[in-house]
Amino acid sequence: MDVRETRVRIDILTVFPQMFSGPLTESIIKRAADKGLVRINVHDIRAYATDRHHTTDDYPYGGGPGMVMKPEPIFAAAEAILASGRTPSAGEEPASPAIILMSPSGRLFNQQVAHELAMESWLILICGHYEGVDERVRQHLVTDELSIGDYVLTGGELPAMVIADAVVRLIPGVLAPESAAEESFARGLLEYPQYTRPQEFRGWSVPDTLLSGHHAEVAKWRRLQSLRQTFDRRPDLLDSAPLTKDEHQFVEKWRAGAGPTE
Ligand code: SAM
Repeated sequence: MDVRETRVRIDILTVFPQMFSGPLTESIIKRAADKGLVRINVHDIRAYATDRHHTTDDYPYGGGPGMVMKPEPIFAAAEAILASGRTPSAGEEPASPAIILMSPSGRLFNQQVAHELAMESWLILICGHYEGVDERVRQHLVTDELSIGDYVLTGGELPAMVIADAVVRLIPGVLAPESAAEESFARGLLEYPQYTRPQEFRGWSVPDTLLSGHHAEVAKWRRLQSLRQTFDRRPDLLDSAPLTKDEHQFVEKWRAGAGPTE
């Protein structure tokens, strides 16, 4: 496939390809693929195992529980995918994807990393399973390792779906531009509270400002609510969020015990 055909190409290597039908073939991701903004290819590592039983895992050297994913089928799959990339024209650099291993020991995936990856034109995501993958894959094939959190999952399939989803929605053209710009983490803060109809539900009303039709007041209210949500729930984010002088003053007042709107 020509890597310029679509804005971003994502290849996923897994021993459980069926797991991907659904999450990556519905909703926003499906629309992005239909528009040609992303192309997601799921590859069965087992198809690259050359023995009669298509073996992809084996016992760990040195003993211990569980099985370890063998290096040969993973290298063979990655190399076949690399070879399927566009042949560079004279003087042009060959396309070089980021080859990322899903791993609890990897650097922590967050919105900033999602933005970094959305700038790439080609990602290869490798899903481990069982006790993990042979160390030579990490040392000699991958260019990065990502963890989606400090917990251990059964396999790298869910992390690969999480990463693909977070990255695809940041590809220009996938979401309305203001939608991504207003979301949690986009400006270093959590998002403000959202309301929809009815205006009153079980006696709980929508805040007056949101009904005022006054755009500047709505924007001001939302920004303050964002700041307060972040102060209450993720104060660690405030250390690096770009805040105005007034916003710093609000934070200082709240730290000193003032109420949410003071
Ligand atoms: N023995 C490994 C360890 O202690 O780190 C855990 C292996 S885990 C059961 C199997 C595979 O799931 C891993 O190789 C990795 O691909 C994936 N995985 C599990 N938790 C993950 C996480 N938090 N982030 C990314 N990948 C994860």
